[in-house]
Amino acid sequence: MDANANANGRKTRLATRPARGHRHTTFCTIVPPHVLDKLSHAEDTSLADPARRTLEHDALQRTRRRITTVRGVPAARAAAPSDKPRRTIYDAQHRTSLPGRKVRGEGDQASGDESVNRAYDGLGATFELFLKAYGRRSIDDSGLPLNASVHYSEDYNNAFWDGEQMVFGDGDGEVFLDFTIPVDVMAHELTHGVTQYTANLEYFGQSGALNESMSDVFGSLVKQHVLGQSAEEADWLIGAGLLTDRVTGVALRSLKAPGTAYDDDVLGKDPQPGTMDDYVHTSRDNGGVHINSGIPNHAFYLAATALGGNAWERAGQIWYDVLTGGDLASDAEFADFAQLTVAAAHTRYGEGEEQSAVRDAWAGVGITDLRAHVGAR
Ligand SMILES: [Zn+2]
Repeated sequence: MDANANANGRKTRLATRPARGHRHTTFCTIVPPHVLDKLSHAEDTSLADPARRTLEHDALQRTRRRITTVRGVPAARAAAPSDKPRRTIYDAQHRTSLPGRKVRGEGDQASGDESVNRAYDGLGATFELFLKAYGRRSIDDSGLPLNASVHYSEDYNNAFWDGEQMVFGDGDGEVFLDFTIPVDVMAHELTHGVTQYTANLEYFGQSGALNESMSDVFGSLVKQHVLGQSAEEADWLIGAGLLTDRVTGVALRSLKAPGTAYDDDVLGKDPQPGTMDDYVHTSRDNGGVHINSGIPNHAFYLAATALGGNAWERAGQIWYDVLTGGDLASDAEFADFAQLTVAAAHTRYGEGEEQSAVRDAWAGVGITDLRAHVGAR
């Protein structure tokens, strides 16, 4: 999950899930550190300064998270899990103390502040996909209230899930716009919460890249569900609408074509590989969690487009079954996850196009040698 957990080395990939209630949470930002690092070296100080401040802030938060254990399972709740979200939006008023001033609660009328309304709607859209498509009641499947703070800090170039709530910066207006704009960014961050409560994938190396990929996959699916788009119609981008006009790029990442989201003088080039041939070995970014996530991301895209129709239905269901099914170890690697998706496709849909689409998708990103199916558990 974090550097300390990983320093202990790998034990086994079976049944090493941490005890419930003692899960370390990861400080998961939508913009990875290597992007901000590049930006912080820009000659133009109006670009470099906000990036540097965001980096410094995030580094401090990462250290804090490493020494803090957040309960993965909240204290007993009185009410049974509901089919309705319980959202609260706060205004951090450009400070860094959380959550800030409460500005919109569940069922309250719209605010005059569009950041507040986008956050409210995005939390609702994420809640709705997980409920309608998979029967999941909020992040923890027990009706966890969804809290978000907007207008965090000054010119803050990021959004994150801190283990308990969502936080959005306004962006510096030079490179990044308001982080509440893309619904998939919001859904990406909340999916880190779902992962935290389920497979709890360690945030390092391949398991970390799988963690990131889960967030991109379900982030994109929330957007597709909101827009009523099929797999063929979707843009498969994460963070479209977040970059200003001065950036040469369309988004932060692309599941359809990893490595093509941006190629910019200041931001650099999207470093994501789409296949194992281009796997990036690096110690940065927790072992490339935002980089090599391109590989499982692209596998999902290949499976979803091979099956066609709504990607959140069969392809999304298979991925969800693996994430939440209990067989995915917290230090799983890509091949482990791939094997489980083939098995999950078989368990849910039997011998058929789902299983072959999933197997072909992994082969398409260079992960082969998967058994045709593994026996039902
Ligand atoms: Zn993330």
